[in-house]
Amino acid sequence: MDKRIFEIEEKLKEKLPAKRYIHTVGVMYTCASLAMKYEYDIDKAMMAGLLHDCAKYHDDDTMLKRCEKYNICISETERKMPHLLHGKLGAYYAQSKYGIDDDEILEAIRCHTTGKPGMNKLECILFISDYIEPSRKKIPGLEKVRYCAFNKGLEDAVKMKLICVLDYLEDSSEKDIIDRSTIETLEYYKRLK
Ligand code: FE
Ligand code: FE
Repeated sequence: MDKRIFEIEEKLKEKLPAKRYIHTVGVMYTCASLAMKYEYDIDKAMMAGLLHDCAKYHDDDTMLKRCEKYNICISETERKMPHLLHGKLGAYYAQSKYGIDDDEILEAIRCHTTGKPGMNKLECILFISDYIEPSRKKIPGLEKVRYCAFNKGLEDAVKMKLICVLDYLEDSSEKDIIDRSTIETLEYYKRLK
């Protein structure tokens, strides 16, 4: 196993709030499980899971300021919901603070918040693991996404996750600010079959 995983895990334990750290470790091992199931590089999947939320400890204001400082482009939706930016900023930190130079890992981190059409294997693995890891609070549809992930296929699981997320958002107060990328991603995965 890539020994950097342990070193980075130690650093994140200090950096992240306890709940976020537990989620992070859950995502990392869920990524490993899906990598085994779908014959992907286990170390790379674990690294993506480990670092996916490495920028998710800033408040909204700091998130925007950091992104501006590092020339990360901010969409209109992201300006309204700065927490969406933790994917882009996380990819930046993964490279600059944790020395990750693998483009596949960086891109999986970058797009994990909203997903995107045509995700590759690692991007799907991270996108799904983020939703189904063991400490995730029980949300409608979670069991279905877990079932799909291990019994149907990565693309089915991505589609199921998006359906659940959008259903959930539509019922909540965040209705008006559903990111367009999330909708585009779902449309793409619905068309697949
Ligand atoms: Fe995240
Ligand atoms: Fe996460």
